[in-house]
Amino acid sequence: MKLTLWTYEGPPHVGAMRVATCMTGLHYVLHAPQGDTYADLLFTMIERRNHRPPVTYTTFQARDLGGDTANLFKDAARDAYARFKPQAMIVGASCTAELIQDDPGGLAEALELPIPVIPLELPSYQRKENFGADETFFQIVKALAKPMPRTEAITCNILGATALGFRHRDDVTEVTRLLGLMGISVNVAAPMGSCPADIARMGQAHFNVLLYPETGETAARHLERACGQPYTKVVPIGVGATRDFLHEVSALTGLSAKVDESALRAPWWSASVDSTYLTGKRVFVFGDATHVMAAARIAATEIGFEVVGMGCFNREYARPMRAAAKAYGVEALITDDYLEVEAEIARLQPELILGTQMERHIGKRLGIPCAVISSPVHVQDFPARYSPQMGFEGANVIFDTWIHPLVMGLEEHLLTMFREDFEFHDEAGPSHHGAKAMARTEEEVAEPSEAVAAEDTGGHAIPVVTPSGEIVWMPDAERELKKIPFFVRGKAKRNTEKYAADRGVVQITVDTLYEAKAHYAR
Ligand code: SF4
Repeated sequence: MKLTLWTYEGPPHVGAMRVATCMTGLHYVLHAPQGDTYADLLFTMIERRNHRPPVTYTTFQARDLGGDTANLFKDAARDAYARFKPQAMIVGASCTAELIQDDPGGLAEALELPIPVIPLELPSYQRKENFGADETFFQIVKALAKPMPRTEAITCNILGATALGFRHRDDVTEVTRLLGLMGISVNVAAPMGSCPADIARMGQAHFNVLLYPETGETAARHLERACGQPYTKVVPIGVGATRDFLHEVSALTGLSAKVDESALRAPWWSASVDSTYLTGKRVFVFGDATHVMAAARIAATEIGFEVVGMGCFNREYARPMRAAAKAYGVEALITDDYLEVEAEIARLQPELILGTQMERHIGKRLGIPCAVISSPVHVQDFPARYSPQMGFEGANVIFDTWIHPLVMGLEEHLLTMFREDFEFHDEAGPSHHGAKAMARTEEEVAEPSEAVAAEDTGGHAIPVVTPSGEIVWMPDAERELKKIPFFVRGKAKRNTEKYAADRGVVQITVDTLYEAKAHYAR
């Protein structure tokens, strides 16, 4: 285990909490040290849930370790049952409690509670949050779902949506609507929105729709074996993938695919002249494998971006991720170290990042716009409005959220271009707040004086060669660079630096900038 400031995934018991929290009638008794209750905040604060997760912590302290922590666990389980009266209970240990080896499963069984008690074996030191959620859902399904006669009409289960997922709630609604158009109703959507009694009747559906392989694939495979239910492999994120998904459902059920694209607005954009502005934009995509692979497909085939880098933090999906990256001519970055991701983004200098809440921070530091496409998420990724990622409505939402950081930037670029202007300089208030405007004096507007130029260099002589041999930008060249619209500035900077490096030039002046421009224009 590695100590770090930020992580893409928490320990596996947080994954188990993601399952417990999104269900009703289920309670989680977690053998955990005092302090682990912090995990509640992830749900109440980040997801803005109006109730605490259904988790009872044993919250043992250091002084308990010499005594009887096993009895602490038994008391907590007994009290939780008496207080919450759940339909079923899951029991397990957090990282530190795993080391005490108290065996929560055996201890809970000895209590002989009149409900199913499902023990979770989550190897905290080898696996992480997504594995924890996937394994917990699988154990619940394995314990409760049994083969049974199918419903008369064609129905399906929707698998994989959990608490703290990226837009899971709205995706389930959207996919339910798409299936409804084909005449398929949803038997059970789980774990999100289900209770143990619902899990027990999952066997009556004709097939399963796997929305999120990271958190539902093991359960889907189990149901295929145990209940003979096939499951869908296409995740309907993006226009092309939604069409493929509907055809896959059609092939599984024999029903004709109803592809209603009337609400899709992307074709209008594609036909408009503005769309050319997006063509060839260099994007870097990072997150969980499912969302990254879907996003790369949309970026490359539906919007016309160029995928310059992609990768995922969940190593379980390294193989399909590598294969997908190959198709775009890049090598997949498989890492859970955000510093490595940051270094790669800094090296590639994309014009847009599609990432997680971690890449949003990285983007802010590097001055590159970012749209979030995957968990881990932050409070702003749980909008009050309906905003799915899946289906045709999801494609509209994706289009807006990816394009706005670029288009909104246009306004910023205009402000940058005009920032030397007497009306729009940096200190002036917003242009629509006329009363706040502070015009600059004539001296300020005048060309920067020698004194200002000297100030820019700290009053020192400009070094001709940096000690490291690195290329430096002269203040006047830097000022000129800032006048270039932001969406081509990165490219202009890279080209100029390459031009300078190829010629052994270590100081970039305004002349170098324009020589490079002329060179690349040829
Ligand atoms: S048990 Fe795990 S999650 Fe809890 S404090 Fe220790 S390392 Fe962190």
